[in-house]
Amino acid sequence: MTKSETLFQRAVKVMPGGVNSPVRAFGSIGASPKFIKSAEGAYLYDEDGNRYIDYIGSWGPMILGHGQPGVLDCVIEACKRGLSFGAATAPEVEMAELVCELIPSIEMVRMVNSGTEAVMSAIRLARGYTKRNKIIKFTGCYHGHSDGLLVKAGSGAMTSGIPDSLGVPVGCTQDTLSADYNNLDSVKGHFERCGEEIAAVIVEPVAANMGVVPPKPGFLEGLRSLCDQYGALLIFDEVITGFRLGICGAQGYYGIKPDLTTFGKIIGGGMPVGAYGGSREIMELVAPVGGVYQAGTLSGNPVAMAAGIAQLMILKEHPEYYVQLNEHANKFYQNIQEILKKSGRPYRVNHVGSLGCLYFTDTEVVDYESAKTSDTKAFTDYCNYMIGHGVYLAPSQFEAMFLSMAHTEEMLQETLKIIEEYFQ
Ligand SMILES: *Cc1c(COP(=O)(O)O)cnc(C)c1O
Repeated sequence: MTKSETLFQRAVKVMPGGVNSPVRAFGSIGASPKFIKSAEGAYLYDEDGNRYIDYIGSWGPMILGHGQPGVLDCVIEACKRGLSFGAATAPEVEMAELVCELIPSIEMVRMVNSGTEAVMSAIRLARGYTKRNKIIKFTGCYHGHSDGLLVKAGSGAMTSGIPDSLGVPVGCTQDTLSADYNNLDSVKGHFERCGEEIAAVIVEPVAANMGVVPPKPGFLEGLRSLCDQYGALLIFDEVITGFRLGICGAQGYYGIKPDLTTFGKIIGGGMPVGAYGGSREIMELVAPVGGVYQAGTLSGNPVAMAAGIAQLMILKEHPEYYVQLNEHANKFYQNIQEILKKSGRPYRVNHVGSLGCLYFTDTEVVDYESAKTSDTKAFTDYCNYMIGHGVYLAPSQFEAMFLSMAHTEEMLQETLKIIEEYFQ
C-alpha cells in the first residue's frame, strides 16, 4: 500500500470522507487522494515521492507558483513579529490601499478569512443598502457554502429557491432566485416579476465552477444595465478571476464596473483570506460605521496579509507576467483542441486567460445544462491517466485548470505530450 493510501485509511476514520473540503476527495473518479507533502514552482510532491505538474494551484491562489521566495520571506518575517494580535495593524492598511489602488470600482474594502465569508457578507451589505431581500444567482455558479447560496440548479428553482444541501432551511433560500448563465432573458424575467424586491445580482464574471464558461458578448453588460434600471446592485464574485485574468480581474478584462466585488484565493497568496469592497457610499454601511454587522477575530491577520500583499506587489510590479501567462495559456488550450481534432474527438475546450476546461462533449458549453452533457465517465478515465502520468488535475469534470506563472514552456509541452498519448 502507498503512503497516500495508508494516510487515507486513517483519514476516513476521523474526518468525513477523509478530507477537509469535498473537492479534495477523489471518489468521483473512483480513486483515493494523493497526500501532498510539498510543492515548488509548478510541481507538487506527494508522500510517496511522486512528482506532478500541478494544474490546481491550490484552486487558484498560487498564481506565482509554489514557494515563491519573495512571498515566503515576507511570511517568515511576519511570523517572527507575531501570529495574531486581534488589533489594528499596518499591513491591513497597506493591503486595503493596494486593493483600492488596483481595482478602480473599489474605494473601501473589508478583509475576511475566506471566499465564502466575503460573498456572504457582500450579500448582507447589498440587502442592507437596498433594503430589499431577493438576490439573483446563476445556475452552476458557486459562491461558497453559506445557506442562501446553496441553491439547487435548474428550472425548478426559477421562482423560489430549493435547498441544495441538507440542513439548509427553505426559509434561508426563498429569496434566492436562479437564472441561467449567459441568458439575459432569464434575468429579465425575474426583474419584470419582482424587480423592486431584488437587492443584487451575483455572478462569476467567468463561470469557473462548472468547468470554465466565458460570458457571451453582451451578457455582463446586460446585467449591468438591468441592475441600473431596477436599482439593484451588481456583485462580481471575483474569488477566482480577481488578480488572475489581469491585475484588475475580470472587471478590468471585460471593462464592466460592478457595485461590489468579492475576492478570495489569489488575494491571500496561499493563506486563508477573502475580501469584499465597493464604493465608499456602500461600504460605509458596514459596522462599525454603519448598521450592517460583520466581524472576524482573525480578519486581516498579519501573516495572511503579508502573504497576500507580497504576492499582489509582485503581480503589480510585473504586468508582463500576465501577458506571458495568458499567451502561454492560450496556446496551451488551443493545442489541446488541436490534439482532440487530430484524434477525431468532438470534445470542447473552453478557456479564458489561464483558466481552461476540457469538456467531454460535442455540445458547445455555454451554461450549466450544456456543461452537464459532458461524459463524466470518459473524463474519469482521462483524469486517472493524467494523474498516473504525473499531471495533477482536479478530480472533477466541473473544475477549471489553473495555469500559473511558474509553468514553463517545457512543462506545458510535456503535458501536451501526455494528453496526446492518451487520446491515441
Ligand atoms: C472558491 C470560491 C468561493 C468560496 O471561497 P472559499 O475560500 O472556498 O470559501 C466563492 N466564490 C467563488 C467563485 C469561488 O471559486
